[in-house]
Amino acid sequence: MTRFIFITGGVVSSLGKGLASAALGALLQARGFKVRLRKLDPYINVDPGTMSPYQHGEVYVTDDGAETDLDLGHYERFTGVGARQSDNVTTGRIYSDVIAKERRGDYLGATIQVIPHITDAIKNFVTSDLTDEDFVLCEIGGTVGDIEGLPFLEAIRQLRNELGRENSMYLHLTLIPYIRTAGELKTKPTQHSVKELLSVGIQPDVLLCRADRTIPDGERRKIAQFCNVREEAVIPALDVDTIYSVPISYHKEGLDDEVCRHFNIDAPPPDLSRWEEISERVTKPEGEVSIAIVGKYTGLMDAYKSLAEALAHGGIANNVHVGTQWVDSEIFESGDTLHHLEGVHGILVPGGFGERGSEGKIAAARFARERKIPYFGICFGMQMAVIEAARNMAGLAKAGSTEFGPCEDPVVGLMTEWLKGEELHRREAGGNMGGTMRLGAYACGLEKGSRVHDIYGDAEISERHRHRYEVNTTYRDVLEKAGLKFSGMSPDGVLPEIVEIPDHPWYVGVQFHPELKSKPFEPHPLFTSFIAGAVHQSRLV
Ligand code: GLN
Repeated sequence: MTRFIFITGGVVSSLGKGLASAALGALLQARGFKVRLRKLDPYINVDPGTMSPYQHGEVYVTDDGAETDLDLGHYERFTGVGARQSDNVTTGRIYSDVIAKERRGDYLGATIQVIPHITDAIKNFVTSDLTDEDFVLCEIGGTVGDIEGLPFLEAIRQLRNELGRENSMYLHLTLIPYIRTAGELKTKPTQHSVKELLSVGIQPDVLLCRADRTIPDGERRKIAQFCNVREEAVIPALDVDTIYSVPISYHKEGLDDEVCRHFNIDAPPPDLSRWEEISERVTKPEGEVSIAIVGKYTGLMDAYKSLAEALAHGGIANNVHVGTQWVDSEIFESGDTLHHLEGVHGILVPGGFGERGSEGKIAAARFARERKIPYFGICFGMQMAVIEAARNMAGLAKAGSTEFGPCEDPVVGLMTEWLKGEELHRREAGGNMGGTMRLGAYACGLEKGSRVHDIYGDAEISERHRHRYEVNTTYRDVLEKAGLKFSGMSPDGVLPEIVEIPDHPWYVGVQFHPELKSKPFEPHPLFTSFIAGAVHQSRLV
């Protein structure tokens, strides 16, 4: 029987509920259980695919092509369990499914209401598409008290009755703030947050309390008493040096023991050696490299969450700390500003959309190529590298991307048809924006003898995509003659997946998003190799 753990958050947002869920998932896994993690997002968008990265942070793409919340990235990175479409849902998706059913007449004339129709759809989502999982950890987005979260809370309230206490648990993440003038940690916001939960019929079983310092026993007892939980179930979640220490810290505070006790299961203690080793490497690096990330959404770290993580993983693999400089590419569009990039050991241009800042990215790619600084172009960063190579290596001065409007030499163009396996996918220019990109896992063949073939140690790979435009193969010959090699292609040979410059210490552009598959205990080979290239560069300068 699958057991469900429902994770809610209170007091303030940004407490790291996603990370907490991921860390608990990792702990249960380390005790030998099979886990799956899910996220219910109360906002009205059908998925985060159309949301601005400034508002929502990164869109995490799964192998099966779902555009999901970035917390699914944490889940995957901490547990290695591949996230799926069926692991993330929003109010928008639930309502659009229910309304589509209503239009089809599936409800046979019933009045459609939040209870039971919306809550039934939510419950269905939570309990479907499972096989032999021991635990499903289900995080509810937002903060308790948000209006749009109510149907989700109601659904998980009902689930307790259906599943039974022995198969369900409510875990509430709260904040215990330190008030400097009083010199004390304060429990009142947690008491209020639990009251709010109680008002919708949910009594938390475990409280995970974020605090920036040790929670004294007296305060812990007080929280237990006022919130009606056992004292052992008030678990301090103290700030730690690195996110990879979170599972270790939770275990020390007794979280997984408390979960096992709740479900009345006897399990061997967790094997946390993997996390200990990673934390050790992160906190005691043997060197440092500096990487410039030249992008557009550099003001919000969450916009490039997986990228930042993958770079850190590359550091773990090479035993170095990866220092990151986030640079807005627009600064490279006026005056002599490229000197900002002097001295960095690697330049990375990440995924992006739209013309603004693109010339700055092209300038950064040129700087990396000419100065022989390791360059890693991801998705948009590959497309900009191709435009740069077309203009400055192949002499096509008017080369550009049709993403920015019509151009004379469209070396990057809108893709309207492509193959996914045997299946032909089509899109109309000017059609819907949501969910219409080339999304999810696609295979790619690597050319023998190329740098990427060497890096992956394999001739066929699979990576995740999220883009509308493609490098235009019409220009392949002219670009290859100029020195830009197409070293990875789709299996039908139509879509360029990877370009590289053999005559450069490390210059690779990929059409996919390798950062989505990197894990701390399994760093992505491209990031491992890029950081190794940066380490080499750091010894030269
Ligand atoms: N804007 C480009 C495209 O749609 C690149 C997208 C991306 O970097 N994810 O093809």
